[in-house]
Amino acid sequence: MKTFDAAIAGGGLIGAAIAFELARAGLQVALFDRQQPGEGSSWAAAGILSPAPENSGMISTVPLGRASLQLYPEFGAAVEEISGQKAGYRARGTVEALFSSDPQEKLSTIIALHHGLGLKAEPLSAEDAREMEPALSPELEAAVFRPDEACVDNRALTKAVVAAAERSGVKLFATSNVQSIAKDGGRCNGFVVDGEKIQSHWTIVAAGCHSAEIEGAAHYAPVRPAKGQMIALRAKDLSIERVLWSDHIYLVPRNDGRILAGATVEYVGFDKNVTAGGVQKIIAAALQLAPALADAQIEETWAGLRPDSPDHLPIIGPTDLDGLLIATGHFRSGILLAPITAQLIREWITTQNVSQDWARFSPMRFSEVARATNS
Ligand SMILES: Cc1cc2nc3c(=O)[nH]c(=O)nc-3n(C[C@H](O)[C@H](O)[C@H](O)COP(=O)(O)OP(=O)(O)OC[C@H]3O[C@@H](n4cnc5c(N)ncnc54)[C@H](O)[C@@H]3O)c2cc1C
Repeated sequence: MKTFDAAIAGGGLIGAAIAFELARAGLQVALFDRQQPGEGSSWAAAGILSPAPENSGMISTVPLGRASLQLYPEFGAAVEEISGQKAGYRARGTVEALFSSDPQEKLSTIIALHHGLGLKAEPLSAEDAREMEPALSPELEAAVFRPDEACVDNRALTKAVVAAAERSGVKLFATSNVQSIAKDGGRCNGFVVDGEKIQSHWTIVAAGCHSAEIEGAAHYAPVRPAKGQMIALRAKDLSIERVLWSDHIYLVPRNDGRILAGATVEYVGFDKNVTAGGVQKIIAAALQLAPALADAQIEETWAGLRPDSPDHLPIIGPTDLDGLLIATGHFRSGILLAPITAQLIREWITTQNVSQDWARFSPMRFSEVARATNS
């Protein structure tokens, strides 16, 4: 029987980052992916690194997001050095364009909210915003500049993290389907992978939106897919330096000159089709934000499935089954949250202490709700 200190189900950015972190801490690690690693949501994402909450429900993830953003330069550098591959990290800030009828009020509310959460945000007049990013619409009324935010080429990064993990000693098993967690008495002691028992002291489920399909994990990781459609554009004579946002769209520049536009949020099961309605919505919002993109060429369209949890918050930490940990449900922020997720899992495994308050993200919160509802 194959035996490891830690076995991880799922070779997306989350599972690969955990594998890399644990291997660097000296553990013997096995990483299983039922496809090739890095072909799931981590491939489909836009790669924005923004801890700013999109709504009040996401405020509790801000401390994790801030901590992860701070880890990114060092994480990216270590990954690039060990893998010998580029991760496409761009730390140039983001600009949120406001088209509101009362922009000054909206501007002061956003700035106050950000400052209250310890996030840097600066008000910009429409003129200043257009000077910074000439592609922005002349219709915009004001803007917010978040200088600390960044973006990364998530496809390149995920590949590089997988390579760095392997070079650090992680044993990668591609096209290996994790069917169930394995138990011995009250302890989880590995996985069953394609009918074979894999023995591990620590067992980690990080299989993105498929985590609940692993027998024995659904209870702790009741995730479902949230589809997102994306478009990659290439424009002649138009450059966008920073991530641009409006209420309806984001535009993300890549180092190779492409501009990504996205994304829809749809609950349609595991369907990954790109639809006419999805493309129309993205293009209309992209042209409202940056009208000069009308002449851009559409280079690629795709859709991916975000792992979403019932309360839309990540699921990270140990369970009541000794040895079993969960790291999924990162929804719209898994690229941002990968470094901190890996760090927290490593801290727990090596010291049973963590540097962040992660109680809010416990995998036990769903079973506690189920128990309370049934009693
Ligand atoms: C359109 C879109 C835009 C996004 N934009 C951003 C963004 O700008 N910023 C941001 O931070 N986040 C963004 N996200 C979210 C982010 O992509 C996810 O939160 C993150 O990639 C989740 O990573 P993961 O490793 O958990 O999942 P995945 O990348 O999906 O990886 C899961 C892996 O598990 C494997 N697997 C599944 N089941 C099994 C099994 N039984 N056995 C073995 N392996 C299995 C799969 O093959 C897959 O490789 C976006 C997502 C989408 C779809």
